[in-house]
Amino acid sequence: MLDIMKLGEEVLREKCSDVTQFDDALHILIQAMYETLEEADGVGLAAPQVGVDKRFFIVSLPDGTKKEFINPKITGMSVETNPYEEGCLSLPGVYHDVVRPSKVIIEAKDANGVPFTLKASGLMARVIQHEYDHLDGVLFIDRLDEEEKNKVVRAYEKKNRKKRHR
Ligand SMILES: [Zn+2]
Repeated sequence: MLDIMKLGEEVLREKCSDVTQFDDALHILIQAMYETLEEADGVGLAAPQVGVDKRFFIVSLPDGTKKEFINPKITGMSVETNPYEEGCLSLPGVYHDVVRPSKVIIEAKDANGVPFTLKASGLMARVIQHEYDHLDGVLFIDRLDEEEKNKVVRAYEKKNRKKRHR
């Protein structure tokens, strides 16, 4: 089990660098991330969320789809957007609607360095965009307007304080 970084940790705000080694260390880390994600009951986890400032993330959907995206690039986005209530394992306990393109095209490499292109819609498109943002130090709250963002951060801090005093 890996520790999940929470709001306020520097690594969550960094622009991550490309993965250069597709080696055992990467495979072991990815496996540990899947286990951590399962334990946390999430659908996606980006490397900086476990303290690694590298450009990759994993997705694990309720339908059983599991996929790693290494050195990803979003190369296409639909004009059509939709709102969807997002949360983040780095800001546990708070959720807010975020408007994003409903479909994306992403190019990335798998854990062995083999490139692939995926056209994604629905939940997969949503999770990809959320996790991709993490690689540039962007959190879902940054996609809200200032007032909404402050509200979510205050709610998060309130919850966090309560937790510490319990
Ligand atoms: Zn997140």
